[in-house]
Amino acid sequence: MGIDLGSVAAKGVLLDGRRIYTALRPTGWSPREAGEEILAVLLQQAGLHASQVDKTVATGYGRVTYNGADRTITEISCHARGVFHLYPQARTIIDIGGQDSKVISINHEGKVADFAMNDRCAAGTGRFLQVMANALGLEVSQLGEKEKPGEQVTVSSMCTVFAESEVIGLLAAGTSIGGIIAGVHQAVGKRVAAMAKKLGLVEKIIFTGGVAMNKGVHRALCEELGYPVLAAQECQFTGALGAALLAL
Ligand code: ADP
Repeated sequence: MGIDLGSVAAKGVLLDGRRIYTALRPTGWSPREAGEEILAVLLQQAGLHASQVDKTVATGYGRVTYNGADRTITEISCHARGVFHLYPQARTIIDIGGQDSKVISINHEGKVADFAMNDRCAAGTGRFLQVMANALGLEVSQLGEKEKPGEQVTVSSMCTVFAESEVIGLLAAGTSIGGIIAGVHQAVGKRVAAMAKKLGLVEKIIFTGGVAMNKGVHRALCEELGYPVLAAQECQFTGALGAALLAL
């Protein structure tokens, strides 16, 4: 079993023979409790008892708080393992989660060669998008479909707090919401692309983490990188999948 206790969402993957069970819930204030709940849901789905789980690997920012793991492994290693399993042609992984963004270079065996990470600043992370969605009166899951790249305006503030004020100002000036959203996506794409270019890009580039569900950020990332980027299937689960595979 792999458990990924992220800043926003707790994810679990249980491998039982050829069957794969998944569970997800908000992490909330206690990553430990979220992990215990994920375990209970996975066991119920699989019809198993906890003693029948051979090995558990925990990952994610809350991994150290979870008592039920045999080992903890970094998100970098787990995302690399999970993505390489799904996409053996992957050489660069871009992971944008709730509170950080990472770029990971892997070799042809799936081993981590290098990585870069932004966990100091909310800009370029899911948090930035959540703050902007809130300012626009939308759910974060609606941003991708509501953007209008043809009407895009520039959101120039590098800081989330200032960018929120900028968005509120644009709204007050009557700017199209779709255009503002496209500008927000472009700001995230630009920031993460700069980090990826510094590390060095090798194709195939795979986009993962919860933000990879946002089609607008995907679009902006492709534009800013100047390369095609593939959004991973089940992108929010690649860390937990990697953890489960490492446990296996
Ligand atoms: P973490 O591991 O830090 O908890 P995740 O990889 O689970 O982060 O990603 C969480 C982020 O994914 C949220 O901050 C949000 O921006 C984004 N997200 C979650 N659900 C959706 C969705 N349905 N559509 C678009 N983006 C989403």
